Amino acid sequence: MKLFNNIDIGKLKTGLSKTRNKLFNSVTEIFTGKAQIEEQTLEQLEEILISADIGYQLVEQIMENFRIKLKSEKDRSQLNIIKTLKEELAAVFKFDSSASTDSEKLNVKPYVLLIVGVNGVGKTTTIGKLAYNFKQTGAKVVVGAADTFRAAASEQLDIWAERAGADLFQKKSGADPSSVAFETVKKALDENYDVAMIDTAGRLHSKTNLMNELSKIKRAIDKVLPGAPHDTYLILDATVGQNALIQAQEFAKVTNISGLIITKLDGTAKGGAVFQICHAQRIPIKYIGIGEQINNLQIFEPKAFVEAIFGANGSV
Ligand code: GDP
Ligand code: MG
Repeated sequence: MKLFNNIDIGKLKTGLSKTRNKLFNSVTEIFTGKAQIEEQTLEQLEEILISADIGYQLVEQIMENFRIKLKSEKDRSQLNIIKTLKEELAAVFKFDSSASTDSEKLNVKPYVLLIVGVNGVGKTTTIGKLAYNFKQTGAKVVVGAADTFRAAASEQLDIWAERAGADLFQKKSGADPSSVAFETVKKALDENYDVAMIDTAGRLHSKTNLMNELSKIKRAIDKVLPGAPHDTYLILDATVGQNALIQAQEFAKVTNISGLIITKLDGTAKGGAVFQICHAQRIPIKYIGIGEQINNLQIFEPKAFVEAIFGANGSV
């Protein structure tokens, strides 16, 4: 059971149109009018998938399974071949993960979510969108401005909190981020909040520094509410392609990441990077950002995602 479920396939398709135009158009083109699928066509398909940033190794693996399925497939119509391919792509997201299940979250109050990621990936914006979604379910939400590095960061979070109808906890610029985290969770506990989210700074000047800062924040939260944060989500910007993969590796080395949120999928034709990141890290993708507005965040569901980047225009 999820705290909110807001997949809108039409909106998802519009948001992912850059990736879909690239993938869907070129894939249908190579299969159109082919009575038989030749080796050359499969090689073209492979190239298209690689060019969409799905990653060479993963594409090899997808193609191997796809070829096996094709051999036993009697219905060689274009529609059915693409359906088979979509199944293979959605299967990339199926893996065993040690991350907490969503149902567990419903038993904790307040549910504490720590948001991490480098500068500019969309942490503060995403917190605003998440707060909005949680509020829609009737939850009482507080956000903590633990990015105390810049005064503007707190102001930005304040604006988002107001838009979402959530409350804000902040201290003056330069305050210790872990004290902000501590007091936000304390407020959530004392004042009966359902959800507390902590925004953090994205300074990645050194790995040791990052590790120290994140573990200090986590320890402070755990002190107020043992077992919290219940989730730590890493925000990744889809437009940076391979770089997002490196960021995921670096963060996973210094702290436990229970989920990923991929932002800015509306601004790129490289939406295929999502497959690669998820596959390489074995960390589930929880949400995706498909625009700058407050209602441009959706929960991630593999089938809907594949449909949105591979489905025919207009139909599902
Ligand atoms: P932070 O430094 O990680 O907190 O990043 P911000 O939340 O300040 O966002 C940086 C920029 O990314 C802002 O201009 C946001 O509007 C933009 N942004 C965030 N998410 C999305 C998204 O899903 N789509 C688009 N197009 N822009 C986004
Ligand atoms: Mg920020």
